[in-house]
Amino acid sequence: MRSFMDSYAKHLTLWIFVGLFLGILLPLIFPPMYQITETTLATLQNDVNQEQIAALKTLESQEPLSRDKFISRLKTTGDYSDHTLQELVLTNSLHKKGVLPIANFLAMFFLRLLKMIIVPLIITSITSGVISAGSSQGSLGRLGLKTFSYYIISSLLAILTGLILVNLLQPGVGAELGLQEQVTNFNSTQYTGTGAFLNDFIQRIIPTNPFQAISNGNILPVIFFCITFGVFVTKLEEVNYRENLTTFFQAAFEVMMKMTKVIILLAPLGVLGLIARIIATTGFEPFKSLGIYFITVLAGLSVHYFITLPLILTLFGISPLKHIRNMLPALLTAFSTSSSSATLPLTIQRVEKNAGVSNRISSFVLPLGATVNMDGTALYECVAAVFIAQAYGIELTFFQQFIVVFTSLLASIGAAGIPMAGLVMITIILKAIGLPLEGVGLILAVDRILDMCRTSTNVWSDSCGTVIIAKSENELSQ
Ligand code: ASP
Repeated sequence: MRSFMDSYAKHLTLWIFVGLFLGILLPLIFPPMYQITETTLATLQNDVNQEQIAALKTLESQEPLSRDKFISRLKTTGDYSDHTLQELVLTNSLHKKGVLPIANFLAMFFLRLLKMIIVPLIITSITSGVISAGSSQGSLGRLGLKTFSYYIISSLLAILTGLILVNLLQPGVGAELGLQEQVTNFNSTQYTGTGAFLNDFIQRIIPTNPFQAISNGNILPVIFFCITFGVFVTKLEEVNYRENLTTFFQAAFEVMMKMTKVIILLAPLGVLGLIARIIATTGFEPFKSLGIYFITVLAGLSVHYFITLPLILTLFGISPLKHIRNMLPALLTAFSTSSSSATLPLTIQRVEKNAGVSNRISSFVLPLGATVNMDGTALYECVAAVFIAQAYGIELTFFQQFIVVFTSLLASIGAAGIPMAGLVMITIILKAIGLPLEGVGLILAVDRILDMCRTSTNVWSDSCGTVIIAKSENELSQ
C-alpha cells in the first residue's frame, strides 16, 4: 500500500491526465438525458409566457434526448437565444442524470477541501513571506517593485495580444446573436470615466474590518491587511516579540503546506468530477454561434501561454519546457477548477518543491499573483469588450480602445480568483465605454470553457513571474 501511494504521489501529473481523460469520456458514455414532461410544463408555468408553454407542449413526452439534440429540438419551437431561458428549460427537463451525481460529488468534495485552506494559507504565507523579505534591508521594496513590474508588463502584453487578434479576426462583425437592444445614439462621451472605477478599486482593497474580510473570503483586502501587518512585525523593536511572531507565522504556514500535500493527492478525482460536470452540462451547442469569438480568445491565450511567456522565461535563462513540466498539476487543476485561488495551494507547492523557489519569494509573489496578476483574464476582458462593441455594430475609436486596455488591466487586477469573476468585471468595462450591459448575455454561453483556459493562463503567468523573480535574486540554478 505504502509503495503504491509513493508511486501514485510521484506520478501525480499522469494520474491527473487520467482523471481529465475519464472526465471527458464518462459524460459521453453516460450523458444526462432531457425530456419535456407534464411536470416540466407545470414548473415553467410562472417563468415563461403562454406562447412558449404552448410551443413546448408540442414536444411533450417525446423520447429523452442528449443535451445538444434536446437544445436543437427546442430551438425549432421558438427563440432560445436567451441563454438563461434555455438553461431554465433544461434544468426543468432533466430526465436521467447520467454521470452528473458522481461528478457533482467528486467536484464538490475536492473543491470544499481546497477552499477550506485558501484563507489560512494566504494569511500565513503572505505574512511570513513579507516578514522574511522585510527582515533583510531593502529586500521587500525590491521584491515588491519586481513583482508589480512583472504583473503589469505581462498583463499589458496579454491585453495587446488580445486587442490585435480581435481587430484582425473581428469576431463580432455581422454576428447573428439576436440582440434585443439597438445602440443608435452611441457616443464616446457617455463613458463614466475611470475615476469611479479607481474609487471602487480602493474600496475593494482596503478593508474596514479585516476579520469580516477574512470570514467573507474577500481575498484582496485580506492580502492588504497581511502585507501591512507583516511590514510592521519587522519594525518591532522588541526582538522577542518579533521572533515569536515570525516563528508563529512560519510554523502555521508549514502546517498549511502539509495539509495541502494531502489534499493534492485527491486532484485526479477532483479533476475527473469537475471536467465531467462541465462536459455534461455545457455540450457543444454554444460554439455554433460564438465559434469565432471563442477561437479569438483561445488564440490570444495560446499566443500568450505558448509564445510570449516562454520567450520571457528564455530571456531570463529558464527552460520553459522544464518549467511547464514542473507546473502541470497546478495548471491542470486551474483548468478544471476555474479558480486561481483554489489552485494556490498546488501552485505554491509545485513552485517550491519542483521549481526550487524559496519560500521567501513564493509566499510573497504567488498569493498576491493569484488575485492581482491575471493575464488570461485581462486578455479575455479586452477581447470580450471589443467583440460586444462589434456585435452592436460600433467601431471603437483609438481613445475608446485605450480605455478598454486600461480598464481591462484594472478589471483583471480587481477580479477575484474565483470562477466567472472575469465575466462580472466585463460590466465595468462596458459601462466605461458606454455600451449596454446586456452585452454580457451574448458571451455567457461559452464563458465556462473560456474561464477554464484563462484561469490556467493566469496561474501559468504567476508561476513564470515567480521563477523569473527567483532567478533575478540568484536563487535558481537552472
Ligand atoms: N476564474 C478566473 C481565475 O480564478 C478569474 C476569471 O473569471 O477570469 O483566475
